Amino acid sequence: MGTGEILLKVDKIEVTYHRVITAVQGVSLEVARGQIVALLGNNGAGKTTTLRAISGFIGMDDARVSEGSITYRDRRTDRLQPHEITRMGVVLVPERAKVFENLTVAENILASVSGRKDKEQAALAYEYFPQLVHLRRREAGYLSGGERQMLAIAAALVCAPQLLLVDELSLGLAPRIVSELVERLQRIREELGLTIVLVEQNATVALEVADHGYVMENGRIVLDGTAERLRAHDDIREFYLGHAQGERRNYRDVKQYRRSRRWYG
Ligand code: ATP
Repeated sequence: MGTGEILLKVDKIEVTYHRVITAVQGVSLEVARGQIVALLGNNGAGKTTTLRAISGFIGMDDARVSEGSITYRDRRTDRLQPHEITRMGVVLVPERAKVFENLTVAENILASVSGRKDKEQAALAYEYFPQLVHLRRREAGYLSGGERQMLAIAAALVCAPQLLLVDELSLGLAPRIVSELVERLQRIREELGLTIVLVEQNATVALEVADHGYVMENGRIVLDGTAERLRAHDDIREFYLGHAQGERRNYRDVKQYRRSRRWYG
């Protein structure tokens, strides 16, 4: 899916925390309008940092894009404030602290809206997540993990996104809930014409729904391709899709190991 128009272009970015710690280096990626793009990799690979760089929120973590550029619809965004980027239609569903725990579901949704289109946008959020209608008066702190994730996505929808950045959709959730969330994201993409970047440790989930994927390790992209190609890629199957049980190695080790088997084995 996708029209071919490049909506987001990340060009060789380096991200530095506290002016000294380089977490991401030389990362480039492109997202076409209407696509779902997955950013895969293990803990600490640099996925969240990349996503927060795109959303502008890294400034809150005392980090900055120290090299390269991020362009959204032909406009440089890597020096903009998060609220300016959100206003352009790039909306983040963060990994942690997704919802205001002491506010009700309805208050969380209203907290995201501004302007005259409030009611329409809120109605849209409830339309895609009807479970939240019955939970409107419940404090978000009492919601289950799945309900919180739904609320976080619903609250993001209220901001009228064109590009939705979702950090760890599946983390800690039961497979049934994850399938439901994935199905909902697909509907949102199809019906609202959204473009989605999905950060996931769970490659199985991500490659099921994505059009294209990038694999990150140690702050760099080590592989990218269509989801179909990645699903069929031996290294990915072996490392991320559970075809190599037992000791988990990093992606590079798997790749080197496979190479050596190819040459000597
Ligand atoms: P996870 O799934 O655990 O969030 P990730 O792939 O998203 O992993 P990042 O969270 O982006 O990885 O982390 C990339 C690197 O940046 C790691 O080495 C991490 O220690 C470092 N890092 C992340 N946040 C900070 C911070 N606030 N200050 C300093 N270093 C950080």
